[in-house]
Amino acid sequence: MKIGVLALQGAFIEHSKMLTCLGAVAVEVRLPHQLAGLDGLIIPGGESTTIGKLASAYGLIDPLRQFAAAKPTWGTCAGMIFLAKDIGRQQPILGAMDITVDRNAFGRQIDSFETGLTIAELGDPPFHAVFIRAPVVTAVEAPVAVLARLDDGRIVAVRQGHLLATAFHPELTDDLRLHSYFCSIVKCTQQSQP
Ligand code: GLN
Repeated sequence: MKIGVLALQGAFIEHSKMLTCLGAVAVEVRLPHQLAGLDGLIIPGGESTTIGKLASAYGLIDPLRQFAAAKPTWGTCAGMIFLAKDIGRQQPILGAMDITVDRNAFGRQIDSFETGLTIAELGDPPFHAVFIRAPVVTAVEAPVAVLARLDDGRIVAVRQGHLLATAFHPELTDDLRLHSYFCSIVKCTQQSQP
């Protein structure tokens, strides 16, 4: 299984390491032709305005849109913002998922936090989630499934078929369960599209 990690800015090295631990081949993606032959793609956390600017400069916006329309794609934090359809402001995004996202929803960098999240798909124990100047999902349209909420009800993980988005940074822990969950989405997609 070959999974790309968008490597324009942000925490792409950590994602690649986790994929390698799971036996997948991780491919850093910086240019459109590097998307060829990939079975899935992770868009890392970082700074969505920077990722958007660089993706525009390298001619990646349309190729990434086409990729996400067809193949499993997972956005974490800034990657979630980049995948969303509506973020309430002008900056380059893919608009691939039917979610509305509020950037920097918890405040400034100093308001970053870590917490245990119950994610039914992963079972016990709760997932240790690292939120760094994180976004939240403020609205979802069918057929988006909510995978996790904070205790106050705010949505922080969603899935829409082959698309996954999480507001936190699973690559900054040593818990491989979410990467493994994404690999299972990739595997199922491969089986249904021989
Ligand atoms: N605040 C960043 C943004 O709006 C996201 C932060 C992150 O990816 N940790 O793009």
